[in-house]
Amino acid sequence: MTDTDQGADPIVVAGGGIGGLCAALALQQQGHEVVLLERASEISEVGAGLQLSPNACSVLAGFGLLDALEPYAHAPGNLRIWSGRSGRQIARVELGDFIRQRHKNPFWVIHRADLQRVLLERAQSTPGITIRLSSDVKDLTATPYDQLSCIFREGDRTESLTCKALIGADGVWSKTRQHVPGHKNARFSGQVAYRATVPIDQVDPKFARDTGLWLHRDCHLVHYPIRGGRELNIVVLAKEDWGDETWSAEADKEAVVRVFKDWPAETRNLLNTPKQWLKWALCSVDASGPWSHGNLVLMGDAAHAMLPFMAQGAAMAIEDAAILAKHLPKDVENIPAALRAFERERKPRAARIQGISFGNARTFHFSGPMAFARDSVLRLTKPRKLAERFDHIYGWTPDQ
Ligand SMILES: Cc1cc2nc3c(=O)[nH]c(=O)nc-3n(C[C@H](O)[C@H](O)[C@H](O)COP(=O)(O)OP(=O)(O)OC[C@H]3O[C@@H](n4cnc5c(N)ncnc54)[C@H](O)[C@@H]3O)c2cc1C
Repeated sequence: MTDTDQGADPIVVAGGGIGGLCAALALQQQGHEVVLLERASEISEVGAGLQLSPNACSVLAGFGLLDALEPYAHAPGNLRIWSGRSGRQIARVELGDFIRQRHKNPFWVIHRADLQRVLLERAQSTPGITIRLSSDVKDLTATPYDQLSCIFREGDRTESLTCKALIGADGVWSKTRQHVPGHKNARFSGQVAYRATVPIDQVDPKFARDTGLWLHRDCHLVHYPIRGGRELNIVVLAKEDWGDETWSAEADKEAVVRVFKDWPAETRNLLNTPKQWLKWALCSVDASGPWSHGNLVLMGDAAHAMLPFMAQGAAMAIEDAAILAKHLPKDVENIPAALRAFERERKPRAARIQGISFGNARTFHFSGPMAFARDSVLRLTKPRKLAERFDHIYGWTPDQ
């Protein structure tokens, strides 16, 4: 094993997803040396879109990245909620300029690969951040001097790196979480997400501008334009067992079409368009479990993976990054206390939004009288009032 000498002890971030990259940027802004270890040989994200709400954009604005992201983003004017049974529109939630003016930041939809590339390019060009790919974090041990030694495999070598803090941003199947006593494990929800993207000119123009949410018994469909409006992202969420050993896999197109066999023709046509579908098992990590232990802290999906029924998982990871850095100024003396303070500040919000996501998982899939009651309330509420119901999520900024 070789010991990597970095001079002054850095902060190590394990995982180069959206959360880890944002943590690296935010911690560097505080003046720390940061080493980011990412298991994959390249940082890339396959076929999926992301709703980037104003709370997440407020952090990205702090990195000065909104201009770099804008060409890849699309700002839907509305979220349109449709009945997957009748094909009729149930309600409209006003987004676009209304949300931008209300929360001083945009509500964007974007391809995850575009967001991740912009974050990566900024991190790579920032002095003080070192990114090491093909670096798989294997173990952590405490040193006698209140530091941590992070053991990782880089290619066929095992190395160790001494750090003053380790940020576990290694996702829902986090290895670093095993080092937090009493941690909660990830749980499969019994639901899966099918995801695909298609060129926008191949779909009904009705789907090309706004975000669409189609509700039906035990499943729902979401679509929105990405890549600056050139592609449509399509996500189907449905109850299903998961028999595969991996947690994402290529999906059988026929299986997707089967889920929607009694849906309106326009949705069946839409779902027939993609050539390839990918499938994800939807898992969560109970946010109320412990996130920190000594100089180690979890963030993002490692700490509180949530079901995507409020589209806030990545947004929470981005918010975590900003608040983590706030608790870790350059001259921080007591790192474990700072990490506990971060956990105390973030946990109630992450747990609340995780709870809303679980709640939506039920209400989105209602049938019979419950669906009728849900739709009646939605129908009677004005588009701006529906948007205002999310002020407590979208109105968040790091300086509150
Ligand atoms: C269908 C679906 C739709 C979604 N839609 C939205 C949305 O619209 N808006 C939104 O905000 N969120 C959404 N989410 C949630 C969002 O994708 C996640 O919450 C977010 O990606 C979590 O980011 P993260 O950085 O914490 O973890 P990840 O993105 O999982 O990143 C973890 C990284 O750690 C690396 N890693 C793992 N183990 C190790 C190791 N041992 N050593 C080194 N590196 C390691 C991995 O390779 C990976 O790069 C959605 C999720 C799903 C499934």
